[in-house]
Amino acid sequence: MRQRILILGGGFGGLFTALGLGGARDVTLVSDEDHFLFKPMLYEYLSGEVDAWHIAPDCKELLDERMHFVAAMDLGTRKVTLVNRSEPISYDVLVVALGAVTNYAGVEGAEQFTLPFRTLNDANRLRRRMTEALDHVPPASAPQDTRGKLTFAVIGGGASGVELATKMADLLRDAVKRRALHGEPRVLVIEMADRLVPGMGQEIRRYVEDALEASRVEVHTETSVVKLTAGGITLEHQNAHTEIETAAVVWVAGVRVNPLIEQLAVEKDRRGLIIVEPTLQVRGHENVFALGDIAFYPDVVPTLAGTAQLAFQQSSLLARNVKAFVEGRELKSKHFVELGEAVSLGTERAAVLSAGKVIGGPLARQARFAMYTSRLPTWHHRLRVGASWFFEGTEPRPLQPLGF
Ligand SMILES: Cc1cc2nc3c(=O)[nH]c(=O)nc-3n(C[C@H](O)[C@H](O)[C@H](O)COP(=O)(O)OP(=O)(O)OC[C@H]3O[C@@H](n4cnc5c(N)ncnc54)[C@H](O)[C@@H]3O)c2cc1C
Repeated sequence: MRQRILILGGGFGGLFTALGLGGARDVTLVSDEDHFLFKPMLYEYLSGEVDAWHIAPDCKELLDERMHFVAAMDLGTRKVTLVNRSEPISYDVLVVALGAVTNYAGVEGAEQFTLPFRTLNDANRLRRRMTEALDHVPPASAPQDTRGKLTFAVIGGGASGVELATKMADLLRDAVKRRALHGEPRVLVIEMADRLVPGMGQEIRRYVEDALEASRVEVHTETSVVKLTAGGITLEHQNAHTEIETAAVVWVAGVRVNPLIEQLAVEKDRRGLIIVEPTLQVRGHENVFALGDIAFYPDVVPTLAGTAQLAFQQSSLLARNVKAFVEGRELKSKHFVELGEAVSLGTERAAVLSAGKVIGGPLARQARFAMYTSRLPTWHHRLRVGASWFFEGTEPRPLQPLGF
């Protein structure tokens, strides 16, 4: 009898597992989104360097899937309940790849007044807020008024914070120039630790620091955000508080495990991640597998944890192990390796670490596009996107006045 394989989550872990399993089996993928999202290029979508179809192909284009929102999982009865569907889905093998959500860490006003940056809609909303702020600057404004009205803060100084802040600063400066406004925008990055991107190697960090300077991003380290309101933020640095008025604040200061995982009675680590065996099976449930941002796999270097490159590598092991499980063969384990680093640094530059070598600047930007083309799902999609980037270019789309 064919075993029913149910995959929850259509991101890096879930989608690539489904593709790895191929169409020959009884596989159902459940996701609350109708598209996959190649999140490492969400910054380029914000700036208009890429279009939605490049980085967010429709799931129907990639595989025959179903779109639903998972409400609950019952590992005992082997059933998953979906929102707006009365009948639960039964499975023989379950793959859990529901990913992470934004962690606001209990900071006052954070969830209410900041923008997250994880989805296409988040990027659309941020782009709109930047455009609206620009539209509110009268042409004859004094430089300090322009700066005040165009103050944006990015909370969190990890790779995401750096990539986002440099992209926003370049886009805003370009728009200020095009609209012949006086003055400059102000983009701040707020980080609690004593430096940005702590896990990053020294050589690539040099490019990051140069890019932050070139994009004129204001970096505040050893600084915490203590409060957010509709109009601004309160920062704390060395016990002194400062209030800054902002046009918008983006929160990229951390993630936490998907709330659905909190309801699952399985073994977890102190952050609530599901502890998996080297075969990616959930402890105590041999027919349940977990991967990506919700799984804790002890043999992984800390810099690889919570990354697309880990979920991507795990998906190929997982697909092989699910096949082995249903066919009664022995399951395997694998050592996951760092595939390199690639950071977007504004609209003109990037930095790429690959095979121990670091390159930066416009060439690295091209290398990053080439590298990411090869990591998109399916050959067909890669070819279409590669051709589009090659022939039509990847110029940023300026922040035009709304209704333009
Ligand atoms: C802006 C951004 C940039 C990033 N850049 C990089 C990078 O450059 N390099 C890198 O290695 N990593 C990067 N990451 C991290 C990387 O994207 C994640 O580590 C990776 O996506 C994890 O894969 P996953 O399958 O665990 O989760 P995800 O890819 O997040 O997939 C989870 C899926 O579950 C679905 N889902 C969630 N809840 C439900 C529900 N209740 N019902 C149904 N479906 C649900 C979601 O819609 C999604 O499809 C970035 C992340 C972000 C947000």
